[in-house]
Amino acid sequence: MKRVRCPKCDRYITFDETQYGDGQSLVFECPECRKQFAIRIGKSKLKASQKEEQPEEDEGAYGSIVVVENVFHYKQVLPLKLGDNVIGRYVKGTSVSMPIETNDPSMDTKHCIINVKRDKAGRLSYTLRDAPSNTGTFYMNDILSNYDRVRLEDGSIITIGATTLILRAAPEEP
Ligand SMILES: [Zn+2]
Repeated sequence: MKRVRCPKCDRYITFDETQYGDGQSLVFECPECRKQFAIRIGKSKLKASQKEEQPEEDEGAYGSIVVVENVFHYKQVLPLKLGDNVIGRYVKGTSVSMPIETNDPSMDTKHCIINVKRDKAGRLSYTLRDAPSNTGTFYMNDILSNYDRVRLEDGSIITIGATTLILRAAPEEP
């Protein structure tokens, strides 16, 4: 069963979506306020537009962070930049450079920082530190102290709040 919300009075109406096919339009009449409105069966618009904006193949020249989907948000892929990438939960007017769209209440609005730089050999290096945050930043399940600076590798797993991040390092130049 699925729920739709009346656009006029916000009452939820439950219906059995298995009775209908993808792309089919349905018209409801709200039992509360009698408003009639139509919906279309299929993938949610939010999910579709997020995928268009952030295709999975877009690794970025300096690598990227994959935000693993959970109950609080959809999967997101955020490209890294040289220098400090400040990661936190998106809020209106956020000042962090890498906001994550999520309802995860245990993720701070400024939670951790990944620094990207080139070493003398021209290779990119990735270093993680805590912002500091209220709930801590975890690298491979170990919590970072305020002074920890952790060198990340491709595939490194970072946990902030209930959310898992995976580093995708930029491909090495030949
Ligand atoms: Zn209504």
